Amino acid sequence: MAVIRRERTDSLRHIKSVTSQELNCTFLCELCDRFFDCERPEREQIYSRRRMQQAQQALQGIKHKILVAGGKGGVGKSTCTANLAVGLALRGKRVTIIDQDLDGSSIPKLIGVMDKRMQIGENGLIPVEGPLGIHVVAVANLKDIGEPVVWFQDMRRNASEEFISHTEYGERDFLLVDLPPGTGSDSINIMQLIPDADGYVVVTAPSQVSQATARKAILLIKKAKKRILGVIENMSGFACGHCGYVDRLMPVGGGYALAKEQDVPFLGRIPIDPSLARACDEGVPFLHAFQGGGTARAIELILDKILTQVGDGQQRTHAESDRLQ
Ligand code: ADP
Repeated sequence: MAVIRRERTDSLRHIKSVTSQELNCTFLCELCDRFFDCERPEREQIYSRRRMQQAQQALQGIKHKILVAGGKGGVGKSTCTANLAVGLALRGKRVTIIDQDLDGSSIPKLIGVMDKRMQIGENGLIPVEGPLGIHVVAVANLKDIGEPVVWFQDMRRNASEEFISHTEYGERDFLLVDLPPGTGSDSINIMQLIPDADGYVVVTAPSQVSQATARKAILLIKKAKKRILGVIENMSGFACGHCGYVDRLMPVGGGYALAKEQDVPFLGRIPIDPSLARACDEGVPFLHAFQGGGTARAIELILDKILTQVGDGQQRTHAESDRLQ
């Protein structure tokens, strides 16, 4: 009896191996219609490796990749991303922004390309082009303005991956990725797809509530063993529209304190500036229109620090970055 049972098991094992050979597996798991039936233990590994390979292939023509995280929504993450992009473009760099904030896609508005639509090329999406040759990849450039987008979990993941892996980026100097708020699976998915990022910029407002969420973002980035280029304290004081004097309306220093506490570089403060808010609403790239003003200078100094770090590839401590001030 035992002999018969062993023979049956052996023959079943034989059938299984014949079947997988007959199926003629190409190991292209991401394209396979038998993906969910497949019992190969390597399936998940192959699948995720392939996703990473696709992303790396798509991004191979880009020299530097910087991800901008903010923890909390509304702290000015997109405003900082857009202005850093404009600053880089003003210095002659070829810049692409991916807006991964799928629910609050505001980069197209800030860059002034709301009315443009991405086309599909031979190798994927073609970014829209804005002022100073800045390229933008955003959900707002896919759909009609104002149409609510209802995302299901898989669709969100597909959309983020689609933007990264199936876009014709071409040769670029910088990619800036405006990450979604929070430290959820959306952000983690993107972090996985860009393992060779030069580093992360974390934007916070001075308030303790914003600091707490920015701290979570820093801890996540540290856990992933990625480089933190530094913290920007946005909405830090109020810049008078007439004389430029920065008044401390609310407590300031929260971003600096957070950078010190976490021993990461502090990049600088950007005040609340009515002309910046107006430029954002009107879709005018602020740094371009207000070059030389106090707020623009603050952004330029932040950019200098980021470029120094990207250039030498070093993770700086807080004290080292303080000496760069
Ligand atoms: P987030 O991307 O973090 O959700 P946004 O960049 O969209 O935040 O900024 C939210 C709003 O705050 C925008 O309308 C923008 O115009 C405004 N804003 C951001 N930073 C400043 C600033 N330093 N001065 C004035 N307005 C600002």
